[in-house]
Amino acid sequence: MSGDTIFGKIIRKDIPANIVYEDDLCLAFTDISPQAPTHILVIPKKPIPSLTEAENADKALLGHMLLTVKQIAHDQGLAETGYRVVINTGDNGGQTVFHLHMHLLGGRALQWPPG
Ligand code: AMP
Repeated sequence: MSGDTIFGKIIRKDIPANIVYEDDLCLAFTDISPQAPTHILVIPKKPIPSLTEAENADKALLGHMLLTVKQIAHDQGLAETGYRVVINTGDNGGQTVFHLHMHLLGGRALQWPPG
């Protein structure tokens, strides 16, 4: 099962999303409220609530997700200009959907530090 979050519903195709990549382990789709010209979320199909709950057994999955982000960034034409990968974790991290996800943000110069 994919867990009872909005992302679980997207994995099960119960609700629509603009999916840009999918394989056996993960899914990538555009963020519904984009914070940059390119804003894509990469999520595992396994329902890990946040990075805090990831385990050693998830090592290959997490590596796969990160390399998937890299590939999508390349496909979106972001590799040369650069981009940011963000994992908001827990309440202080600003996480609002408790299904692990990596934000891929690009297409403009991003500020640092974040708010
Ligand atoms: P976070 O605050 O790190 O948990 O990020 C959750 C992200 O999910 C936010 O950027 C939302 O805009 C995005 N989001 C929420 N619902 C949807 C949806 N149905 N389709 C695409 N993105 C969504």
